[in-house]
Formats: sequence, C-alpha cells, structure tokens
Amino acid sequence: MSRNTAGPDPGNSLRIGPATLRNRIIFPAHLTNFAVDGEITDQHIAYYTARARGGAAMIVTEEHTVHRSDRPYEKLIRGWDPAVLPGYRRLTDAVHAHGTRILAQLNHNGAQGSSMYTGRPLWAPGPEPDALFREVPAAIGGDEIAELIAGYAAVARRCADGGFDGVEIQCSQASILRAFLAPGTNRRTDRYGGDPTGRARLLLEVVAAVRSVLGHEYIVGVRLSGHDGTAGGIGIDDAVQVARMLDATDAVDYLSTSVGVATETLHLVEAPMSTPHGYSLFVPAAFRAVVSLPVVGVGRFTTPGQVRSALAEGVCDLVGAVRAQIADPDFAGKTLGGRDAEVRPCIGCNQECIGRVGLGRWIGCTVNPRAGRESTPLPAPRMPGRRVLVVGGGPAGLQAAATSARRGHSVTLCEREPWTGGQIRAAATAPHRGELAGMVTSLEAECARAGVEIRTGFEVDADFVRAYRPDAVIVATGARPQRPVWAGDSAKVVDVRDVLEGRGDPEGRVLVVDDLGFHQATSVAELLAGRGCTVTVCTGGMIVGQDLGLTLDMDGWTRRAHAAGIMQITDVMVTGVVDADDATVVSLVDHRTGTARPFVADAVVVVAHQEPVDELWKQLCDSSIPVFRVGDAVTPRRAHNAILEGDAAAIAV
Ligand code: SF4
Repeated sequence: MSRNTAGPDPGNSLRIGPATLRNRIIFPAHLTNFAVDGEITDQHIAYYTARARGGAAMIVTEEHTVHRSDRPYEKLIRGWDPAVLPGYRRLTDAVHAHGTRILAQLNHNGAQGSSMYTGRPLWAPGPEPDALFREVPAAIGGDEIAELIAGYAAVARRCADGGFDGVEIQCSQASILRAFLAPGTNRRTDRYGGDPTGRARLLLEVVAAVRSVLGHEYIVGVRLSGHDGTAGGIGIDDAVQVARMLDATDAVDYLSTSVGVATETLHLVEAPMSTPHGYSLFVPAAFRAVVSLPVVGVGRFTTPGQVRSALAEGVCDLVGAVRAQIADPDFAGKTLGGRDAEVRPCIGCNQECIGRVGLGRWIGCTVNPRAGRESTPLPAPRMPGRRVLVVGGGPAGLQAAATSARRGHSVTLCEREPWTGGQIRAAATAPHRGELAGMVTSLEAECARAGVEIRTGFEVDADFVRAYRPDAVIVATGARPQRPVWAGDSAKVVDVRDVLEGRGDPEGRVLVVDDLGFHQATSVAELLAGRGCTVTVCTGGMIVGQDLGLTLDMDGWTRRAHAAGIMQITDVMVTGVVDADDATVVSLVDHRTGTARPFVADAVVVVAHQEPVDELWKQLCDSSIPVFRVGDAVTPRRAHNAILEGDAAAIAV
C-alpha cells in the first residue's frame, strides 16, 4: 500500500499495534554483553533505564536466543531458560516507570556462530558456512524447524509474562530467519526453500506462532534486512517482497530495518564515521512505499537535525538511534526539547561500543564515560565549591573540567596551546575523521555551560600552581612524540603530529612508518595522498592499520587506499635512514626472513609511540595540594582512557 510521505515531528506520538509510543525516537536492539549466565543483570537495567529516562519512546533489547542450540558468544540472553523471568520483570518495571515501552528481540543466530560453546552442530537452512565463522552448519529438518518455531513462541510468551510490551523478531544481521530468506544460504528444495514464498515460509510461520501466543494485546515487530551486501544475500527488491508479505499477515505491528550482516559485512550494520549519515535510509523508504505498517529507519543518526529530517522527508515513521543514545542517554529528550546544542554526539568511532563488545567486554562509549557504568552510582561531591585547577585542554582535561564544574566546583582550565582539544583536534583534520571534533566541541560547550574558566595560550608551571593555591590540581598535560633511534638527525623524517598539526608538509614520495596500527598512519597517508604525494605505508604488522578491523574501519580504508594509489608494505622494520641531496634512503628489513631492502623517499613520516608530558606532575608530587594525573600524561593511550580518567579524577576531587 502506498501512502503520502508527509512526515511527522519527532515529538508526535504513534500507535503501533495495541500501544501508543509517546514520540518517534526508539532505542533499537544491539549487543551489550551485560548478561551473566544468560540472565539480565543490574547493568542491563541501569543502562536501558537511563535511555528510558532520557526520553526514548521504545526500547528493543538485545537479542534473546530462542533455542539452546544457539550460543554464538558468551554473554547472550538465554530466553529459552525460565530462569530469565525475574530479571525480565525487574527490567521492564524499571523502564516502564519512565513511560517507555520495552520489547525483547527474539533470535536464533543460525550459522553465524560457533559450536564451541554448545558442542552441538550449528543450525541453518543448509550447509553453507558463514564467511567469518567458517563452520559448516547442519541443514535443519522438519522436527528441528518445529522445535525452532516453538522456541520463538515460548520465549515470546515468557517475555509477555516478564512484562515486556511485545517482541521484535530478528530477520536481519545475524539470524537463521534471514539465512532462510537469502538465496545464497537457502538452497533447499522442500517447502522452506525454492522461490521467495518458500524461503519466507519459516519467517511467516514464526510470526504466526508468536502472534498466536501473544494475541493482539502485545506488539509484534520484525526487523528485516534490506540489503545484506553479500553474494547471494538479500537485496532491496527481495526485502520489499518480504515486507509486503509481512504486511499482508495482519500479525505484524511494525517493521524495523537494517543493512549488512553481522559477520561478513558488519561495517554496513554499524557503519563507522567515514560512512555518510542516513546511508541505510533507502531501506525504510522502500518499505514505506509499499506497506501500511509503521517503519523504523536506522543509519547513523547522530544529531537531532538528522532525526527531524528523516521524519519530515517521510523516509520513516520512527527513528532508531542506537549509538546516539549510547553517547548521550538524553538524546531523545534533548531532541524533543530543541536542546540540540547540549547533545554530546556519537562520533562514529566504534571503539568502545563495537570494538569493546567485539573483544567480549561489556559495551561502553568513547565520549560517554558513564556508558555501561550506569549501575555504579556516583558518590556525592565530598566538598562542593572547591577550587580546581586543570592543566591541559585535551579530552582528559576538558572532561575533568566539565565533570568538576558540574559537581559544583569552581574550575579553571589552562592550556598552553592557543586552542583546546589536544591531539583530537588535529586528528579531526584528516580525511574522513572530521567527526572526531564533536568530542572536543561538545566538551567545550559543556565546560562553558558549567562555568569553567578556560585560559588558552597559558603555560602552567609549579610556581604558578603554588601561587594559585587550588584545592586540587588535575594534570592532563598529554604526551609528546618520541623520535625513533633509527631516524638519527635526518632532516627528512618528521612526526605524524607535525604533519597533522601543520608544522610539516612533506612532498613527493612519502614513506609513512607505522608502529601503532590505528588511524594515525592511515589518516596521514590519506591526507598526503590527497595533497598529491605518492604515499607508501610500511608496518611491522601483517597488515597496515590492523586495529581498524575492530572498529570496522578496515573496509573503508582498504577501498580508499586502493583508489588513492596508497601502497602498503607489511612485515618490515625500519633500521636506518640515510639522507642524500635529493632523497633519503630508508633501510627496511623483513622480520620474517631478515632480508634487507632500501626504500627511496623524499620524506618519511613517523607514527610511533609517544611519551608522557609529566614534568609538572613530578614537580607537584610532593606538594601539599592534592594532584591527580590523567590521560596521556600517565601513559599515552586512546581518547577513551583520557575521558574516563578525567571524569574519575573530577569525581574523586
Ligand atoms: Fe559513538 Fe564511538 Fe560512543 Fe560508539 S564509542 S557510541 S561510535 S562515540
């Protein structure tokens, strides 16, 4: 069914099935890794409740697995286990107290998992292995299909008994139901395979079974992939066909959307900062054109303006914003209240939400030190109104100042450079990294709102501190580059920070030597390639930018590097450099074979480990003033450590 495309305001309510949502912003399903022994924990409750309190109209929790054959990772909620019920009730009561609806997402991951945990064969439509797990699954037969359908129905009933307003059936990024839909993973010749109707049969039977146990007093939604991005995966035309079938059942109350699969094309599911906002909105737009059901749009919403636009343009009926609400639990309320400038935006870094979860740890957020820690209450300030001096205006110092001021202290921040933001400000000037700046600008705005006095271009020494007589000093003086021994006094070798901060401008043939394996080298390589340099990146690792895999930046970097002609040399160490009049010769040694080779360049950019700038801290160590050292001034790490430690020091003041 087609309908007009006039879009609502984010504050408009919406009826879905038996329920009315108070506004148009929801918190969609995503992994948290909070579960312990398959059950809901206090971390879940505090995390979801914070987003309910922050204004989300509806929360769809992470997946609850419907069958014991499905255990792709340790911290999965085991919906099939009756032991989950008390946790369900505690969670739903806490969320409902804030007027927010809460659904449980039901799922079976199928072949997108491992038999490691269960010791049982993976279940799938057929023996096609997942590209990431590379394990041949067993094709399920009629009895197992019946068991699976019964599992969805039983867990849906348990969710209703546990106070959920309904369930969402996952048929998207990691789902056996999606695998049945996709021709590449469903080559069955029985009634569950063949043409699109056959491939959709299992999904429709699951929907019918769930609706039958829930009746029409509960919400039943389906999250449907609109574009898997894999060979043989679902494309938008297939998805639209399935959307029509679901619409026609009269058993579904809304459709949610996604793109990508959680293994082979995860970078599409949780797209990094290099991906344009709204990149996946073509899916809800296509669904909305043919169904009468409300449709949820997702796709890297980070600002209230993007939410308003998507709704106003009639692309979707509801906006699903995950990372925006991880970064700022009050995102929905601020959007509804027009408090756009107060949003602490998600910067699309994928470091603590995706990367951390990928390492098996619970979810966090680079820019929000409280994300994942909501269940640990903050102590009240011991003595409000203290005079706090923060030295250094990078992320650690800005966060320390903002938190200190918010907790009632009188705060002055001194930064020796003419600007705040430290290395983040420079990193944000590289191609595709501009959103990093949001970390700095939002902290600056928070400091301004909280009354922090910021003095830039102001160098602090121990004498100044003693004369200032603060009640506490937070030293956030950052880190400085270290020149590698092999560089000697070569005039051709510059540090990556010199380039990003505008003090160096290499030309011609540039070799970037990467010891860090993260964005620094790839950023400067892209920056210089964009300026016309012929760029080669070398690394001792097996791959350039190896940590980009965890944040899902690897695909984009590889594609862009190829397009820009950036060359890559792996498994080499630099042992020396000899300058000639018109070039420099860099000695590279393959650490696997010991083979040496010269590399001729016009300039070398070093991306090496830094050292802390800790002189002031050392001078103040034996003073009577309480001194806290945070961020890179302790030891150089990533921005999240800086934010966490700045926040923690301010709480300890
Ligand atoms: Fe956004 Fe980065 Fe926070 Fe994830 S860790 S929510 S991508 S800011």
